[in-house]
Amino acid sequence: MNYKIAVVAGDGIGPEVMEQNILVLNEIGKKFGHTFEYTHVLGGGCAIDKFGEPLPQETIDVCKASDSVLLGAVGGWQWDTLPGDKRPERALLGLRGALGLYANLRPATLHDALKDACPLKPELVKNGVDIMVVRELTGGMYFGEKGRKQTDMGEAAYDVEQYSEKEVERITRKAFEIARKRNKHVTNVDKQNVLESSRLWRSVVLEVAKDYPDVELDHLYVDNASMQLIMRPTTFDVIVTGNIFGDILSDEASQMTGSIGMLPSASLGEGSLGMYEPVHGSAPDIAGKDIANPIATILSGAMMLKYSFGLLDEAKCIEDAVTKVLDDGYRTGDIMSDGMKQVGCKEMGKLIIERL
Ligand code: NAD
Repeated sequence: MNYKIAVVAGDGIGPEVMEQNILVLNEIGKKFGHTFEYTHVLGGGCAIDKFGEPLPQETIDVCKASDSVLLGAVGGWQWDTLPGDKRPERALLGLRGALGLYANLRPATLHDALKDACPLKPELVKNGVDIMVVRELTGGMYFGEKGRKQTDMGEAAYDVEQYSEKEVERITRKAFEIARKRNKHVTNVDKQNVLESSRLWRSVVLEVAKDYPDVELDHLYVDNASMQLIMRPTTFDVIVTGNIFGDILSDEASQMTGSIGMLPSASLGEGSLGMYEPVHGSAPDIAGKDIANPIATILSGAMMLKYSFGLLDEAKCIEDAVTKVLDDGYRTGDIMSDGMKQVGCKEMGKLIIERL
């Protein structure tokens, strides 16, 4: 098969980690008989420097016309003094909006070889952590009406948490479909004991669940979920939740995996087009030194193969190669520990390719 991929490598370590991702994907293409055709476009600080804006129309057009989008990272101190709507990070929100990406998938997987880097007690994670947080990305209070008003207690500010049935239904279906490809267990997280928006959320989740009798469903209030995540992390499979709860819980879950340099993510919409990126930023402090960990970006490439192209064996091949390289004792600086062999970004990419 032939796939068209838009590449927004971005700033800082973005281009370095993306280079390794593309080398890995090309090797997968050779092995499994696919052609990946890349179109490189600018987004973030580099686009500001060249075009005066973080997300040029050409970048949006190329992304829309592609089968999928790979993103490195955007941002850096050079652009830190620009006003909010001119900053590199606008490229991320702009692309998510333009491509209609409403579901954010953030897996938190603790590799056996990195168990020492997990801040939880060994007995809590000995059965392995493999959680997929499915977060609603375009609704809730981050996008609801906001404003300020005078009250008899002084100035007040508000951000409205609002969800419609359709918004909840589509993210819930996404979570159930994903659970079907994993361990068939969805945990819905809301706050229906207090919030009206959560009561609607819960009722839609229960309705959608009727179409997935093969998937186990349970519910947690968000405050309890944040406790259960660190008390019994190995018992979770897929967590589905709204924008703000997902923002917080996915960061909490991510800390179990050892380093931000290990965490991939996917943003999906209605069709197969998705945007795949590491969770980390552009890490300007280590950019250009060939020491960044490329694994988060390489695993994002694997997510693209799985969720946009349906290439499950190819995705697993990459995931297994990453596991092997860690089992063989190779580490970038961010995940280095005593007795391991420290390598740079390029070397890590090469070692993964050798194990595909
Ligand atoms: P960051 O994720 O870039 O870096 C945080 C720390 O983690 C740094 O010490 C960095 O060296 C380290 N780190 C990050 N990725 C690493 C990797 N792959 N390998 C090894 N170490 C790694 O977050 P920050 O410092 O808060 O932000 C830097 C810039 O990135 C800012 O301009 C910020 O706005 C931007 N940012 C972009 C995104 C994105 O593009 N999705 C996300 C977060 C932050």
